[in-house]
Amino acid sequence: MKENRPEAPPKVKQQLRQEAGFGCCHCGHPFIQYHHIIPWAEDNHFRPDDMMVLCGQCHHLCTVGAITQSDQRKIKAKPRNIVDDLVRGMLYVNTQNLSVNLAGGKAVETPNLINLSGVTVLSAKRDEEHGRILISAMIHDKSGNVVATLRENEWSMAPNAVWDFETYPLHSKIRLAPYDIAFAVDVRNEELNLQGKWFHKGIEINFSPSKATIGSNVIKSLNAWHCNTMLSVS
Ligand SMILES: [Zn+2]
Repeated sequence: MKENRPEAPPKVKQQLRQEAGFGCCHCGHPFIQYHHIIPWAEDNHFRPDDMMVLCGQCHHLCTVGAITQSDQRKIKAKPRNIVDDLVRGMLYVNTQNLSVNLAGGKAVETPNLINLSGVTVLSAKRDEEHGRILISAMIHDKSGNVVATLRENEWSMAPNAVWDFETYPLHSKIRLAPYDIAFAVDVRNEELNLQGKWFHKGIEINFSPSKATIGSNVIKSLNAWHCNTMLSVS
């Protein structure tokens, strides 16, 4: 009957992700599933108090009873990422095609996407050895604090710096509030789609595939073909 079970409501999922520090409560892995501590078969519920997030492997340990219900409660009370004050994970990229939809145009074979006062804050370059695409972003808030970093596809952030972090092998999204997307990266097709809104030294950077705003500069149609940098503001 598991196939007919409805999905947990988005609000419940977000609450569970946030309380867990955006990773498996047991091991911290950021690719997660939603576990019923009180099994769905016993009680058709979506009570956050009786649910938790786990990775596939730890979820299996709980469903077969290798991790008991009382131990599950202990794990839920002290999630690994909250204890460590760190969320880490990899963004897997399935393409070698370095083409980015950004600012109403395309950056083709152009590794530095946004450069501010000589600092590259967003880039997508090719790994010379394997040809894979490596994406980097330095996400700061208005006060200059680091919210999150994506360094050559490796995520790192403190769980309390963000409101929600959803990550899957080919797409990730960080939100600072319900409709406030700080960074979204999607590589599910052959091209990279990037969206974000953050600050660099007090200057707001706001970009999507259709446009970009850097401070007071609005960019709506920009193409870069085999350049070093797509968008540079000094
Ligand atoms: Zn786990």
